[in-house]
Amino acid sequence: MASSIIDINSQIKRCTFCRLHETRINAVCGEGKIPSKFMFIAQAPGRIEDQEGKLLIGPSGKVFDELMNHIQLKRENVYITNLIKCFLPKCRKPRSDEINTCFELYLRKEIELVKPETIVTLGYHVSKFVFRQYGLKVPSRIGFRKSFGKLFFSKNRKIVPVRHPATVVHQSKQLSKLIEDYEILRTLKSNCPQIPICDHYKEFEKGMIPYDYTGSFCYGNWKICKFFRSVTFYKLLPYEYLF
Ligand code: SF4
Ligand code: SF4
Repeated sequence: MASSIIDINSQIKRCTFCRLHETRINAVCGEGKIPSKFMFIAQAPGRIEDQEGKLLIGPSGKVFDELMNHIQLKRENVYITNLIKCFLPKCRKPRSDEINTCFELYLRKEIELVKPETIVTLGYHVSKFVFRQYGLKVPSRIGFRKSFGKLFFSKNRKIVPVRHPATVVHQSKQLSKLIEDYEILRTLKSNCPQIPICDHYKEFEKGMIPYDYTGSFCYGNWKICKFFRSVTFYKLLPYEYLF
């Protein structure tokens, strides 16, 4: 039988399955809407989150709130969690055994419950892990810079890697890059407005276009669909969709 989020959270709070329980103050549970269209996965609690037992409330949390405000998404309308539920001593990198243990015990079950259309992965380590889980080719650390803010589609799920808000805490100049990364989420809040009138979408309904196309464009980043600006649609579209 599937676990409830209450069961999962009570197990997280008592968890001693990996070495990180020895150095944490609080294991930090996910929070938000279940099910939810968007699921944000950060890396691990920071020092303040560890002390308070709450998610994304430290300096990174302030940056995250600013980015969410920018795209007009409210925390209470999405689900937010960490890949690893316990503080990493001296903010070191997560080790693969810690990631795998915490994922199998908790994050995998959270994804099953939340059923997100889109998973937003915050930072390199989370993005790398989620890409592997979904069978996507993992770019190098430097190569990932080109992937941030882009939509990937695999196993019927949309995945958007973005830079971690902590990068702004250390380098304030990065804020504009993060704002760009988050812009695609504004598009993903709704499906393509052309769907009711689009001949290409009708071809998908007849089984002539693979689901990956509609997942990536009609239900995904429709603003870059090659058919979106065709002349016929142009006349029918409300002004605000054109820019
Ligand atoms: S990091 Fe995860 S697996 Fe490790 S002790 Fe904390 S909750 Fe348990
Ligand atoms: S994304 Fe493209 S193919 Fe899909 S409905 Fe919109 S215009 Fe048509």
